[in-house]
Order: sequence, then C-alpha cells, then structure tokens
Amino acid sequence: MTVRELIYQTEDLIGEKGKDCHVAKVLFYHLANKEPHQLYLMMDEEVDEELLKDFQMGIQRYVDGEPIQYIKGKETFFSRDFIVNENVLIPRYETEELVENILYKIDDYFEDYKSIDLCDVGTGSGAIAISLALEEKKLNVTATDISEEALEVAKLNAKELGADVTFYQGDMLQPLIDRHQKVDIFVSNPPYIPNNQDIESVVKDNEPHVALFGGNDGLYFYRKIFSQVKEILNERALLAFEMGFDQRALMEEAVETYFPHVPYEIIKDMNGKDRMLFIYYHLK
Ligand code: GLN
Repeated sequence: MTVRELIYQTEDLIGEKGKDCHVAKVLFYHLANKEPHQLYLMMDEEVDEELLKDFQMGIQRYVDGEPIQYIKGKETFFSRDFIVNENVLIPRYETEELVENILYKIDDYFEDYKSIDLCDVGTGSGAIAISLALEEKKLNVTATDISEEALEVAKLNAKELGADVTFYQGDMLQPLIDRHQKVDIFVSNPPYIPNNQDIESVVKDNEPHVALFGGNDGLYFYRKIFSQVKEILNERALLAFEMGFDQRALMEEAVETYFPHVPYEIIKDMNGKDRMLFIYYHLK
C-alpha cells in the first residue's frame, strides 16, 4: 500500500466516525519523523511495515476517544515540543498567551532587576515554567505540582529542552512556604472547571481530573492561593493566572476580597474571551 492510499483510506475511516480526519496526516508524519511538507514528496512510496502497524494502532486509539497529543506523546507549546502523557494536562494555545503576557509584564515592571524569582504552581507538563525559563534568562524558576507523575514529565521536559527549573512536589504553594522561599512573580494555571460542568468527553475521559476541576464554582484553588500567597511574595510582586472564560464576576469578587485596593486586570485571549488575571501587588 502506498502512503497516499493509506492516508486517504484512513481519512475516510476517521471521517465516518465523525472525528477530525486531519489526524491521519498528523499521525503519519509524526511516526515517519517528517515535516508536514515532506509528506507530499513521499505519497507514492510504499508504507513501511513497522510504521503501518504503529499507525493503525494509533488511529485505533484515536477513534476510541484518546486525544492525538497523548498518542503522539507530544504537544507543541510556545514553539517547542513537550512530552505529554495521561498524567499531565495537554498544554493549550490559550496558555501560550499567558506566557507571552508575562514576558511583556517583565519588561514593564522588572526591567532593572538582575535576577527575578518566579514560581509556577501546579506546573503539570512544565510548559509554562520551562517556556518562561527559556525565554527570559533573568528568571530563576521554581515549579510545584502535587502529582509525582506529572513532575516526572515536567523534569523530563526541562532536561530535554535544556531549561534550568527547580521542581518541588507538594500541594499548591506549600513547598515554597515550607522553604521560606519568596518570589517576584507568581504564576498559576490551576484547575478551574466547576466540578459539575459538562465538558467534552475527550477531555473528561482522558485528562487528569486533578488538573481540571476546581470545586463547585471553579475558584477553589484561586481562593486557596489568594489566602496564602502573600507569605511567599516579595515586597513588589506580579501575580499571573489563567482563568475560565466565564469566571469574571466571581474572580473580581475573590480578588477584591483577598487583595482590597490592589490594582488588577482581567485580559482577554485572542478569541475575545476573559482568560488571564494579573494582580499588581505594590507594582508601579
Ligand atoms: N483550559 C482547560 C480546558 O478547557 C482547563 C485548564 C484548567 O482547568 N486549568 O479544558
């Protein structure tokens, strides 16, 4: 069978199941270790036996409901490939915007710092912490996660990508509190989906619930962080969070409760949805 035949046949099969037929090409060039444009040059070649087996197995998993990112074992975030498995949330495009905005804010508020201490709480695959460490050399990055399995993935990513990040296992900011560590920038993309919210089954059935669900209204972890975080903040600090698109009113209430009179802003993502919260703690 030629590559063309295999791809067409698989696209039809996936399409019939009502799923995204592009996955046929995506998985093929991943397994063949080719760039997308190279695939077109090999369309008339015979498919290698080994590759065919892996491909068919992968497509079966996809059709059975697994996210393609777990099947490939990879997702691109901020132009770098991160290893992902079922122990970590798959990094989302929206979260790249959080990283980008933090980098802008560093220019705005910390230009004159020689070194900047930053922590990422609930790091998962390490996508945020590692991207920031690689993009801004002045950052001294610490990351925590409650899940040992997630930290294994994050450490592997840091090693593969050559990022210098210190990882601690523990609940939210507890590892930093225990070590009396203070930061200039606090970052988190905590679990924020309300417990009873109906979400896509490809997410619900595959991604770690410890990374998704944030209590009855989705804000459980933000309130927990807000109530403890001052203990680990330097005199001036930036707090940066990802948040759910429908949480503005609740979030404003929570921020104003825990940080009265502290300036903050909620920023929209490129789809025009409320997505990021920045709190400017004694920053001017
Ligand atoms: N953005 C993720 C989703 O929609 C949720 C991530 C999170 O809870 N922090 O599936």
